[in-house]
Amino acid sequence: MILAPAARPTRRVLLPATLDPAPPPLGGRVHEFSGRTMGTTWNVRLVAAVQLRREPVLEAIQSALDEVVAQMSTWEPASDLCRFNRAAPGTWQALPDAFAEVLACAREVAERSEGAFDPTAGPLVDAWGFGPAAPLGRPGGAGLSEALGRTGWRRIDLDPVRRSVLQPGRLALDLSAIAKGFGVDLVARRLAALGIASHLVEVGGELRGSGVKPDGQPWWVQLEDPDPASPGCGTVLALHGLSVATSGDYRRWFEHDGTRYGHTIDPRDGLPIRHGLASVTVIHASCMQADAWSTALGVLGPDAGPALANRLGLAARFVVRRGTRFEERTSAAFERLLD
Ligand code: ADP
Ligand code: MG
Repeated sequence: MILAPAARPTRRVLLPATLDPAPPPLGGRVHEFSGRTMGTTWNVRLVAAVQLRREPVLEAIQSALDEVVAQMSTWEPASDLCRFNRAAPGTWQALPDAFAEVLACAREVAERSEGAFDPTAGPLVDAWGFGPAAPLGRPGGAGLSEALGRTGWRRIDLDPVRRSVLQPGRLALDLSAIAKGFGVDLVARRLAALGIASHLVEVGGELRGSGVKPDGQPWWVQLEDPDPASPGCGTVLALHGLSVATSGDYRRWFEHDGTRYGHTIDPRDGLPIRHGLASVTVIHASCMQADAWSTALGVLGPDAGPALANRLGLAARFVVRRGTRFEERTSAAFERLLD
């Protein structure tokens, strides 16, 4: 995600209704923090007094992100998620709070997207080599049908009261398409708890912004584009109490016999998506929701994706590949954000 210049640009602008047109300047200055998490980078900008003590803030941000990794990473064998995936069939596993919150949201997005998003797609992710288990490539032999047989969000039996999940046997959770967004939300929550109301949080391209800068301007960000030639390229958004996430086939992919395979898999047939959608951007109050829905709508593709976004009132932008050209489709809720 590219951060836009401070001055309000003349390009197509998305301005949420929540934005007070003339918020008072706050005083203080913008401080910047950055680091690494979840195989990518994070970046935080926040408004605070000039003499801010940086260490406690840095520690609050990094520990929030470390918590997400310790609970939900498929790449850390000691994570709660990996422990769940290895658990004996028929056992109930207690989940820590954040893991339970993310899994409940993931299940809901799975249900509302009719399985296009599926947090149980771990075996498919591994079969194609997008996980830690194997190198990238087409699964051989019975690998794909075996992985498909183990996938299905309906197998998730979540007891919200005891915050426990049943391991029915060889169910492998993968929250990689939603955990980054949740990490952004968690960092924003921790900053707010420290009394830092104005902040822009970014993890691996997913963003959430609150408040305004000392000059009274909101946090302007430029939507991520698959290509400088795509229509609507350079659209900027005032992230004021909002999050934005983008899912795209240009981020991680491999080519086989002339077909481009992205790291998002359609859990309904077990194959990487290949319907020519270059990117999907979702704008939502919650970054966890934006992250999950960008993946869900990306699986649904250039026709069913916008249709579901309109049915659910989601603000979404689709960039579709048409040979060497690109076409843009936007949902009604996205259009309503246009200035
Ligand atoms: P993007 O940035 O393109 O949205 P993410 O990093 O959010 O990608 O999510 C991609 C990861 O999500 C994959 O590496 C895989 O672990 C997982 N995944 C792939 N397909 C699905 C799916 N249909 N539903 C849920 N998770 C998926
Ligand atoms: Mg995602």
